[in-house]
Amino acid sequence: MRTAIKHANRRFLRAAIVLIAGPGFAACPAIASSQPAALPFELTMIAPGVYSAIDGPGGKSGSNAGFVIGDDGVLVVDSFFDPEATRALIAEIRKLTPKPIRYVVNTHYHIDHVGGDAVLQQAGAVVIAHRNVRGWVRTENLHLFGDRITPAMKDRVAALALPDLTTDKDLTVWLGQRKVVVRTVHGHTGGDLVVSVPDADVVFCGDIVWRHVSPNIIDGTVATWIQTVRGLGSGPQAAQTTFVPGHGGIATAKDLADFADYLDDLRAIVRSAHAKGLSGDALVQAAMPELTRKHGDWTAFAHFAPLELRFMADELAGRKRTPQPVGE
Ligand SMILES: [Zn+2]
Repeated sequence: MRTAIKHANRRFLRAAIVLIAGPGFAACPAIASSQPAALPFELTMIAPGVYSAIDGPGGKSGSNAGFVIGDDGVLVVDSFFDPEATRALIAEIRKLTPKPIRYVVNTHYHIDHVGGDAVLQQAGAVVIAHRNVRGWVRTENLHLFGDRITPAMKDRVAALALPDLTTDKDLTVWLGQRKVVVRTVHGHTGGDLVVSVPDADVVFCGDIVWRHVSPNIIDGTVATWIQTVRGLGSGPQAAQTTFVPGHGGIATAKDLADFADYLDDLRAIVRSAHAKGLSGDALVQAAMPELTRKHGDWTAFAHFAPLELRFMADELAGRKRTPQPVGE
């Protein structure tokens, strides 16, 4: 019975990953052959007390996460899609430090980054998010799946934990003497935060940055997104900074430039198709070869690229749907 439930969960998870991250992840055989001993993410110490947890083979965690160990506590960045991965992350933190897990910062509302918030709240953490996220966690996450959402996923979204502390301004979180800076940024959802650890030159970017993975721009405003990515990748410290993206491996300033170029190319290609009077399927058909020539080797490209072209066309035409702030 337990095995049957586990298998059902895995199918359910796999369906979600296809939707959120694209088929490139689900195509990996690792998700079908379960290896209970292996972590669903790759844990790396990128600076003293600063760790990235990069989504493991097969996209089992659903996204990247990470954590910062300070003098008197731990701050986690994002909580994955799969609560089992969140529990595994907590277990890894417990091997490194007995200090309490005081905070989790959600970089945005998407379920692949907030799916384990309840587990962290139960472990004692305060969930910090952008002010808009609280109103979107249980509503906009439904929209993310469109009409392909299953009843089980609807129930799961309805029960997602809500953030405890919300902000539309930058925050400084002190872990004893260790400073963590939470900044509001623009482009991916309308409720995005990035988290930096100045003493370690590390920035957790959430889905503002995708490293060699085609992005999900369903909620994005590409025009401002490009500026945010270029800004992050060109500051005075950028060359020595380690960036943890929302999807894909640990990134450098060069990877951020590559991602901004991807978005720039997407916009330029759609703009020129518009200029030829193309729209809808005809636009996608005409634009795919050039986008494929430039970025066809990015993970999940086949799944996301046609969607990106349509969303980009909507943005250029001034009819892009983006999540709107709701009252508190
Ligand atoms: Zn994501």
